[in-house]
Amino acid sequence: MSDVLVIGGGIVGSSVAYHAARAGLGVTLVDRRDEGHATAAGAGIIAPGVGDGESDGHNALVAQAAAHYPRLLAHLTEDGEEEPGYWRVGALVIATNEAEADFLAGAGRFAEESLGAGVPGIDRAAMVDGAVARELFPPLAPVPAALHLAGTARIGGRLMRDALQRGAQRRGATILRGDVALRRDDRRSVHAFIDGRQAPAETVVIAAGAWSAPLGAEIGLPLPVFPQRGRSRIWRCPATTPTGGPWS
Ligand SMILES: Cc1cc2nc3c(=O)[nH]c(=O)nc-3n(C[C@H](O)[C@H](O)[C@H](O)COP(=O)(O)OP(=O)(O)OC[C@H]3O[C@@H](n4cnc5c(N)ncnc54)[C@H](O)[C@@H]3O)c2cc1C
Repeated sequence: MSDVLVIGGGIVGSSVAYHAARAGLGVTLVDRRDEGHATAAGAGIIAPGVGDGESDGHNALVAQAAAHYPRLLAHLTEDGEEEPGYWRVGALVIATNEAEADFLAGAGRFAEESLGAGVPGIDRAAMVDGAVARELFPPLAPVPAALHLAGTARIGGRLMRDALQRGAQRRGATILRGDVALRRDDRRSVHAFIDGRQAPAETVVIAAGAWSAPLGAEIGLPLPVFPQRGRSRIWRCPATTPTGGPWS
């Protein structure tokens, strides 16, 4: 019997499995590897200080997540991971017209406030003109302005996920490929089944990304997690791509 059964091996489930295994718990992670899982598609931008200052809950979560990375990276190094896919490449938020430049100025003030308030994971925030933006990122078309956030990071989702899973395995976790279903019995206990076979666990964690709500529904648990379509495009730019290439 596992202490923790994690459903989903994207970045969230892998992180749960890693942290639980490091805490000494017996962990089983099961992943179905669906096409379209978000971790392989995400741009991986870890940019505290980007926001409008209005969503306190979101901003606090982003700040705490960014602050956690140095500790996480130290733990992964301790567990033998040399390339977990984390690069402090900075960020440029582009204004393509004057109206967007005005909006960005507000975002820039929020970024400076965040910096002043000691939000970690950001070294410097400054509005720059189009020429400076192109110096920082030569392939850029002419733009009126940009917000430059120096020192913010980007992660390679697949690299980080794999590092977390390997780290969890080194700490004793079992990682399986399979399809988990949940059932609730008459006494309201939850039972998990991997490919139809019961898998007893003290605690079940649903980290199934866009598939979480249907899993919750199987046991009468409403989970307000909805799929949202997104696209990112990644270019290799010799002038800007750090050695090692953060593109996987
Ligand atoms: C285009 C795009 C750009 C993005 N950019 C950013 C960004 O810049 N910064 C940022 O922070 N976030 C970004 N995101 C969001 C981020 O990628 C996601 O929030 C994150 O990857 C979600 O991870 P997850 O583990 O919850 O889900 P997923 O990666 O989707 O993993 C869920 C896993 O659960 C498995 N699963 C589902 N049901 C079951 C089951 N019943 N049994 C077993 N396994 C199951 C699936 O097969 C899948 O492997 C972006 C997303 C997209 C699509």
